[in-house]
Amino acid sequence: MKKRIEAKKRSYSPIKPSGNGSPSKNRRSSQKRSNARYKNTHRPQSKDVSVSGKLPSLENNIRIMPLGGVEEVGRNMTAIECGNDIVILDMGFQFRDESTPGVDYLLPNTKYLEENKHKIRAVFITHGHLDHIGGIPYLIDRIGNPPIYSRSLTTIMINKRQEEFPHLVKLNIHIVENEDVIKVGDLRARFFSVTHTIPDSMGVIIETPYGDIVNPGDIKLDHVDGEPTDKEKEEYSIFKNRNVLFLMADSTNVENPGFSSPERLVHEGLEQIIKDTSGRLIIGTFASQIERIIKIIEISEKYGKKVVVEGRSMKSNIEIIRKAEMLKVDKSTIISVEEMEDYPPDKIVALATGAQGDEFAALMRMSNKTHKNFTLNKRDTILLSSSVIPGNESAVMKLKDNLSRQGAKIIHYRSIEEIHVHSTGHGYRGELEWVHKQIRPKFFMPIHGSHYMLRVHERLAKDIGMSEENIVVPDNGTVVEIRDGGNKLTTLPNKVAEDPLVVDGFSVANIQDVVIRDRKMLSEDGMFVIIVSINVKTGKLKKSPDIISRGFVYLRESQDLLQQTRLIIKKTVENTTKGMNPINFDFVKDNITDDVSRFLLQKTAKRPVVIPVVLGS
Ligand SMILES: [Zn+2]
Ligand SMILES: [Zn+2]
Repeated sequence: MKKRIEAKKRSYSPIKPSGNGSPSKNRRSSQKRSNARYKNTHRPQSKDVSVSGKLPSLENNIRIMPLGGVEEVGRNMTAIECGNDIVILDMGFQFRDESTPGVDYLLPNTKYLEENKHKIRAVFITHGHLDHIGGIPYLIDRIGNPPIYSRSLTTIMINKRQEEFPHLVKLNIHIVENEDVIKVGDLRARFFSVTHTIPDSMGVIIETPYGDIVNPGDIKLDHVDGEPTDKEKEEYSIFKNRNVLFLMADSTNVENPGFSSPERLVHEGLEQIIKDTSGRLIIGTFASQIERIIKIIEISEKYGKKVVVEGRSMKSNIEIIRKAEMLKVDKSTIISVEEMEDYPPDKIVALATGAQGDEFAALMRMSNKTHKNFTLNKRDTILLSSSVIPGNESAVMKLKDNLSRQGAKIIHYRSIEEIHVHSTGHGYRGELEWVHKQIRPKFFMPIHGSHYMLRVHERLAKDIGMSEENIVVPDNGTVVEIRDGGNKLTTLPNKVAEDPLVVDGFSVANIQDVVIRDRKMLSEDGMFVIIVSINVKTGKLKKSPDIISRGFVYLRESQDLLQQTRLIIKKTVENTTKGMNPINFDFVKDNITDDVSRFLLQKTAKRPVVIPVVLGS
């Protein structure tokens, strides 16, 4: 019998408690406990050390500080400091991964900006993807709620997210267009339109005394066989007469040679498939592919078909494009899933999330027969209009297995060679090279990518003639300085952002703070270990859960509480595992932690650290 044992870790890394000993040793000694408290509150933590204090004075130099997005794809944010002014480009977040258990999102570290918030004049947001706007609700107040500037759709997306946090400050947000010039302190900002997968994507130009600092944002090019269209040429022609001091640019796809296929070809491919499919057509794509979603709905209407929308993020984005008046279709074209039965199957196109095999998204639920309203059959066609994100290969394979087990026909991006069903939003090497040649910067910094991607982008810049000393490959928090009246590029020895900030529930903290908070909870409210044994076939408990607790309540006198907790655990496990195959242990553990913590808080007004251990056999 094989057993899986997984204990939930709340802390980011096993930072050894130093002077005050481990929490388990503390639990019997009230004397030590108060010592621990004393040390936690009075010992200076790293967060109390000023980061600006470590830097030389700015003088007449310009500082460019990527605070996130240059060691990963995600949490993009760059600050530019010149004279008395700081401006910020993008404020994204990154979803957590295996290396960050116990947190929800990773954010750029804004310590330097918090210390210098009196100098912040503006935040410019290039487009509405979460790796560019996701940090705003958590960070904007920390940096003094400066004005935000972006295009219309982006502002709607930002406001929509802010509504989910009603306790937060009201944003000071403004729409800008190509012809606008925004004065920000002694600097000025201009904008240009770029092609990406979401409408209203823009590049930003910051005018400084020594020339322009340019960030086009996430870009690809619309082109015909490698020749950019006239519209692209016109947009980038603004650089003909500009003196560009510094360019930072997207490195996501720099490794791929040539030009990526333009979205236009995908639209043509989708039109052919929507037109020719008999039976229901279910299209799985990224909810962030706003342009494609608009096109799919328009094409469906053109061929007299109705569109059903499945998945929370997809629904929410369609609501947004409606609000932005970017969806020019009749109201009756989008129908609810209940109305689906009123139409013959070949009049139905469904848009669904989950093409990456995400556990709880619409497509996955259809595939494992746990979707309330969608039962797949042999006459259905499923189009996966997405690439497979590295790391998701086995989840996507599982999805395809489950879908085809139900007899549905599957089309994905490699099924039919001559028809395009997906294209990326990030330009390939050929496109980036063309953009470099239009902008002709004096200095260059690759951004938006892992270190390796940035290095490949550096190579590209050298290949087209830039010299090594004019290129900087940064890490998160690197302080890049332009000195000597715009003539010398250098980096400072100290960084301004070492660790990311993390979002854990509703709180934003340094990673060390999360660890410290756990230790604090252990020393104050103890811990509560739950051992659950699940039958992996049925998802049911094999026996009543075992509970071990330290420093929380005296168990022998709390039999009632324990009994009620056991019932809650049973309910949580069985509700979570219902229809789930295979069982996602992490998800089960997260739900146990949430439900039990809430219950214990209600009953005892204490917050012990709840540690579920789930055994499956
Ligand atoms: Zn993007
Ligand atoms: Zn991005």
